[in-house]
Amino acid sequence: CGIVGYTGFQDAYEVVINGLRRLEYRGYDSAGIVLDNDNSEFSVAKTKGKVEDLVAISKNLKGKSKVGMGHTRWATHGVPSDRNSHPHLSNNGKIALVHNGIIENYDTIKTMLTAKGFTFQSETDTEVLVNLIQYFMDVNTELDFPTAVRYALNEVFGAYAITVMHDDFPGLLVVARLGSPLAIGLGTGEYFIASDASPFVEFTKEAVYLEEGHMATISLENGVDIRNIKDNAQITPEIQQLKL
Ligand code: GLU
Repeated sequence: CGIVGYTGFQDAYEVVINGLRRLEYRGYDSAGIVLDNDNSEFSVAKTKGKVEDLVAISKNLKGKSKVGMGHTRWATHGVPSDRNSHPHLSNNGKIALVHNGIIENYDTIKTMLTAKGFTFQSETDTEVLVNLIQYFMDVNTELDFPTAVRYALNEVFGAYAITVMHDDFPGLLVVARLGSPLAIGLGTGEYFIASDASPFVEFTKEAVYLEEGHMATISLENGVDIRNIKDNAQITPEIQQLKL
């Protein structure tokens, strides 16, 4: 299972697909990608099977965007299927999320969200988390997107590496980690996200390994802002020089 994310000047489709290929060794049963363009809704492609099966159904997304993320899934909640593949979108279609790990208390949250009128397309624990983020933004329209992600993460137990995008905040990637690895590659005019450095080592030798219980908001405009998920305390990133 794996995660790849990108914001920069390159074709996000190429970077994400090639990155997913590099993470194939970790094992998976499904693969998916989402791209964000400034003036349109998310473009999503996902399928049970191999990264090459994803490529077969998504070639039309090539060259469309400079921002995107991809996922290879190792199913824990819900069988391997197209529908259960990531990314998962929130009910309003505005938030996209990829996740490695397990949300242990997804059932309780799903019951709460269902009572509020949310519906679910998949059997995954992941789809509950993306809708919980929407819920926090629905009830407080002043709330900014990274804060909503932080609020949602403070409600969940389990293990996760996630990357989240919001259609109204193009170029912004929010990532978080608890119990599953996540690395941020620092390029010149571009940022990479991946489960390990192998998807981006050909582009940059500078990386920040996100630590347990930390999240990061990444954009070309404001760089990498790392926070403690619990109390929002700002963390100074420790930049590693990759020797790969
Ligand atoms: N628990 C999630 C699911 O079953 C993520 C699995 C993974 O780590 O890929 O969809």
